[in-house]
Amino acid sequence: MINLVLFGPPGAGKGTQSEKLIARYGFVHISTGDLFRWHTKNDTPLGKRVKEIMNSGALVPDEITIAMLKEELDKNPQAKGFLFDGFPRTVPQAEALDQFMKSNGSAIHFVVALNVTEEEVRTRIARRRTVENRADDEEEKLNKRITEYFSKTIHVLPYYEQKGRLNTVNGIGSIDGIFDNITRIIDGKATPVS
Ligand code: ADP
Repeated sequence: MINLVLFGPPGAGKGTQSEKLIARYGFVHISTGDLFRWHTKNDTPLGKRVKEIMNSGALVPDEITIAMLKEELDKNPQAKGFLFDGFPRTVPQAEALDQFMKSNGSAIHFVVALNVTEEEVRTRIARRRTVENRADDEEEKLNKRITEYFSKTIHVLPYYEQKGRLNTVNGIGSIDGIFDNITRIIDGKATPVS
């Protein structure tokens, strides 16, 4: 079982690379952003709690995020491996994730950080805004998300670096080129399903 955290700022390409990684390795995909969007779209009690926070571009409090994540892990006891996308975003989330993995006799084996400059991220999201129409891609909210990343989420990197699990991949280049660089890190440790 191989568990991977895919890390990077908004617009780094986590969603795109996740799809390709899932097809190759059969990971169960856990995207906290997608899960929160599902809850808000379906107007669940959790969705009602997080809607305003998400729309402002702020991070959802750890307590709520960690509880949702645990529930999602518990739903997938047979998973061959998890790909975490957009989680952890804070050090307490990273610690909680390690604890969950440990209590299941497992661990986070790889952290792949997509390295993309702030300028590139802004250009990409401006482009995405014209196609996807995500409420949190509006400029003011985007600024908040980028600030949240550089003020809070970035501190997760030294956490993993100290544990010797951090791998940095250049997130600028062709989608396939970036994917090849990620697979080079994983291969030898995980068996492709296709
Ligand atoms: P991004 O494009 O910013 O990577 P996501 O789709 O991953 O967007 O997340 C969208 C929003 O969902 C975030 O701005 C935040 O409000 C909330 N969110 C997602 N994951 C987390 C998390 N791990 N901790 C706190 N909030 C989160």
